[in-house]
Amino acid sequence: MSLDPERVQQRSMEILSRLVEEIGPRPAGSAAEHGAFDWLEEQFRSAGLETHCFPVRFQPDPAFFPYYSIPAAGFALVALTLATSGWTTLLLPLLILLLPEGTQWLQSKLLPYKEGSSNLLVLPAKTQPRELDVILCAHIDSARAVPAGTDIWKKWRDRSMYTMMRAANLLIIPGLFQMMGIDIGGILLLVGQSLAWGMAGLLLAQEVWEQASSRGRFSPGANDNASGVSLLAAAALTAAETPTGNLKAGFLFTGAEECGLHGARQFAGYMRENGLQTPVISVDMVGAGKSLRIITRCGTVRPVNTNIELNELIKRADPLAEFHSAPRRWGDFAPFIQAGIPASHIENGGTSRSWSTYHTPDDTLDVIEPEMMRHVSDVLAQLFWILEKSKENPVEYVHEQSTANAYK
Ligand SMILES: [Zn+2]
Repeated sequence: MSLDPERVQQRSMEILSRLVEEIGPRPAGSAAEHGAFDWLEEQFRSAGLETHCFPVRFQPDPAFFPYYSIPAAGFALVALTLATSGWTTLLLPLLILLLPEGTQWLQSKLLPYKEGSSNLLVLPAKTQPRELDVILCAHIDSARAVPAGTDIWKKWRDRSMYTMMRAANLLIIPGLFQMMGIDIGGILLLVGQSLAWGMAGLLLAQEVWEQASSRGRFSPGANDNASGVSLLAAAALTAAETPTGNLKAGFLFTGAEECGLHGARQFAGYMRENGLQTPVISVDMVGAGKSLRIITRCGTVRPVNTNIELNELIKRADPLAEFHSAPRRWGDFAPFIQAGIPASHIENGGTSRSWSTYHTPDDTLDVIEPEMMRHVSDVLAQLFWILEKSKENPVEYVHEQSTANAYK
């Protein structure tokens, strides 16, 4: 299998505009998500590739699910109790630390499931899933859109988690005085209470505004993740034209990633049931910036580490790529790792523009940089070349589940 990167890039730009301009926002389980799957499958079939569809059950985004109201309530509690007791200030940082994973966990336990999303596995002609050497994966669905807002708002939103933590840590000081029986009446109490009320008000305002204005709105998802889908689709189609060598690469297009990684979860389950240990590389948001990141770890409370050998392999394909830990963002790689399958993840370093349009209505084709699409095409071509070589000489490439976290 060899790839002409120029052809991959050209083709990916065509597929990208089809997905973003003609199909548009692709919420999990929607007609648009179906339309994208159907159109892609048609392209793969007419290129002579094998396709397999898998139904995916998912939990749609609810009309309202508290997120910022939770720390807002925590700050309000601190404001109310600071004059009489200090212990609430010790719990507040913990509450904020647990917030991303805690709400994720709550959502997964509480929300009802629905049928109607899917996964599409694309294989070389006459190939069975167990013959694959590698699976590259990208999610087709796009996220519920938070309002784009002004620049100041974007800056605040980027820093809100950090600011919350900072404020919570500061509030520990008057709290400790209070617990030690030292009178904090007067200015220290006033400053502490004002900070707590200020944060509570700000977070509540953010919750109301974001939830109200994101109702029923979805991002066109150009960078997240039509970029990854179009590059992988273009690679699959281009590889089908020149099926030289003996590398067998599969391409997995997942649904319902944005509302809880449901597509990847379904496929990881399928792989586990069938004893498949094929390494999986997820490709998500790769259309903007100067370089790629190899994600080494995500999560804070129960972190997930990507596969070290696989990361090294990607680094060989793209020496400019940086290892990066992303504690608050998850992706399709996580369910595979949790199922004991070696997996890794690449994303772009991005630009201030691409990050400020993340999960907003402004994640459009304007965010995409053709040079970055070209860079990723080169990396994919390199990756396939290295995999091909290591298949001929397997000693160099042994894939094992990583247990250590080497890139803290
Ligand atoms: Zn994504």
